[in-house]
Amino acid sequence: MKYEAVIGLEVHLHLNTKTKAFCGCSTEFGKEPNSQVCPVCLGFPGSLPVYNQTALDYAIKVALALNCKVQEYTKFDRKNYFYPDLPKNYQVSQYDLPLSVSGFLDIEIEDKFKRIGITRVHMEEDAGKLIHQDDCSLVDFNRTGVPLLEIVSEPDISSPEEAYEYLSALKSTIQYLEVSDCDMEKGSLRCDANISLRPAGAKALGVKTELKNMNSFKGVKDALSYEIRRQAEILDSGETLTQETRLWDVKAQETVSMRTKEGAKDYRYFPEPDLPPFVIKEDKIAEIRKTIPELPKEKMQRFIKEYGLSEYDAKVLVSSKKTSQFSEEAMKKSADTNKKPLANWIIGPLAALAASNNCQIYELKITTDSLIELIELIENKQVISNLAGKAVLEEMHKTQKSAKEIIAEKNLAQISDSGSLAGIIEEVIKENPKSVADFKAGKANAVMFLVGQTMRKSAGKANPKVVQDLIKKRLESA
Ligand SMILES: [Zn+2]
Repeated sequence: MKYEAVIGLEVHLHLNTKTKAFCGCSTEFGKEPNSQVCPVCLGFPGSLPVYNQTALDYAIKVALALNCKVQEYTKFDRKNYFYPDLPKNYQVSQYDLPLSVSGFLDIEIEDKFKRIGITRVHMEEDAGKLIHQDDCSLVDFNRTGVPLLEIVSEPDISSPEEAYEYLSALKSTIQYLEVSDCDMEKGSLRCDANISLRPAGAKALGVKTELKNMNSFKGVKDALSYEIRRQAEILDSGETLTQETRLWDVKAQETVSMRTKEGAKDYRYFPEPDLPPFVIKEDKIAEIRKTIPELPKEKMQRFIKEYGLSEYDAKVLVSSKKTSQFSEEAMKKSADTNKKPLANWIIGPLAALAASNNCQIYELKITTDSLIELIELIENKQVISNLAGKAVLEEMHKTQKSAKEIIAEKNLAQISDSGSLAGIIEEVIKENPKSVADFKAGKANAVMFLVGQTMRKSAGKANPKVVQDLIKKRLESA
């Protein structure tokens, strides 16, 4: 590629406080339109805002988890613009003295960590929502004034894949803090992207476009990939790019021009006169720092060290806090030799079962004890096959019976004893003289066909390892 991409992301995050940023209205999602409003969030003249203490604590928590420096002196500013869902005609945001600056988040790309700088994390409020119908547009102010954080990254991201990883790492970190549900479908996490291209190795930045309207992490990745192609074509043709805002059209899978981009001066920022600046003391920061739990990156590294897991397994297991807690409880109870199979069972069959039940792994009615027992029956005692294990897992969730009970009830135990298998094996050998001849002629693979036939005749219940050994012995001795 003769160009390199320079990408920065702006993430907007709803904080899950009970009340809005500057008034006592509820923030609950999905309520009747305009049922959660008051003079403050509707911008009535004379009403005065008071900032939500919990929102401030949450904001500091996020800033610290993202390794930002929390500024001692911070203030709110008015960002002026008119939009029908913004009743005050300005948004309370932060301009020149944001809550925090100069942080970073490490992302994992091809088994290596890459550090992405975080320019700032600042506090602001959300606007309402417009609902467009055929002949009119309706406005719902329930979301107006919900506390938001804006998390701005440095332009350190070099590819759509890195952007995806950054968003995943950010979401997972914030979910660990339990300050937001990060649900993109509900709009509690939204992402805009800035992207420009420059000749590979060049220092100067190219003309950037701002991308909006991406409703999933995949959407962000797709929009960036499209934009890289579009900008490269324009540069190749010798034309110049315009700085503009473009919308991602998910149906057409392309970006379309929305408007030329406003600069900061267009917003006429000025200090919010109704809210005094505030001072955040060191002891307050220290107190909040203590409430930050072990974060995904540290947990992943610990899982690799303590449980001998691969990077991939550890990363998947720590991606959500509750899944990591379930996994760790199981890891601690598991025999060392079963830790790898345990990770496989959680990432594979357990995750699949959760997905088909539309829930999370830890919400399944399967305890860590019963999972450990099942894995022992498969791995160590070879009572049932892997395949039968999956059926037992489903039944465990449905009935909450133990693996042993289910195996007995459904008669799932494998046949491992040579006496019971000898008859079937003799039949298979008699019926397949060609495979027998192949095996004797040195084609080792021929034995697998015979094992397959034996498995079929036993209705899948023969222990394939035992069958293979028995067939080999039988043919080598004859
Ligand atoms: Zn209100």
